[in-house]
Amino acid sequence: MRPLFTATAACFTLAGLALAQYGDISDVKLAKPEDKEHVKSVEPPKGAIVLFDGKSLDGWVNRNGKDKAHWKLLDGGIMEVVKGGDIMTEKKFDGTFKLHVEFRVPYMPDAKGQGRGNSGVYLQGRYEVQVLDSYGLKSQNNDCGGIYSVAAPLVNACKAPTIWQSYDIEFTSPQCENGKKTEPAHVTVYHNGVKIHDDVKIKVDYTTAGLQTDPCTPGPILLQDHGNPVQYRNIWLVPMK
Ligand code: MG
Repeated sequence: MRPLFTATAACFTLAGLALAQYGDISDVKLAKPEDKEHVKSVEPPKGAIVLFDGKSLDGWVNRNGKDKAHWKLLDGGIMEVVKGGDIMTEKKFDGTFKLHVEFRVPYMPDAKGQGRGNSGVYLQGRYEVQVLDSYGLKSQNNDCGGIYSVAAPLVNACKAPTIWQSYDIEFTSPQCENGKKTEPAHVTVYHNGVKIHDDVKIKVDYTTAGLQTDPCTPGPILLQDHGNPVQYRNIWLVPMK
């Protein structure tokens, strides 16, 4: 019996350690009990391009486009932001695609506003869907789920900090003729399964801190380093047309 007891005790200790590092949310006032239930992880469907399978950062580079991504791989198929810059996929995308991303933000009760679990998912490296701890707020266009400075989410669908969440993003690149943009990008976003943007036109060519590349060219999926240890897992993309 002794080895079993030891293994169980070690398990509890590890779980306790993980919790201590990422934040104990027992003092967070929950709007509803499911806000502390992790979103169910969704397997990549047939035809998906797996961008992050949890085993390596292969296929990801630093924002300079050259160096191997410097973020941290953790047990459980997770990558965590490490200060020193954004990372992005080597692959570039255009046309219409569906992107699935799972993420969670640390509990930072002493931090405020944009300093609280900030990261972001940039489509084509240019347009940010904000990642932030915006739990319980009346969401603005710079809160979690916001298309940064362009559109606030229709509803706040956030889970509590430290809890796994998901984005399912249907993105269409700008339309171009003869190298000139004729139609802006547009996007529909589901946050934890709730529609928070319905075919929103993104009229700018990039949002704050996005890649300022030609909007008529393909671009990567870029994840933002905003100085907070935000975590990601299970990222995949389905090209549509
Ligand atoms: Mg951000």
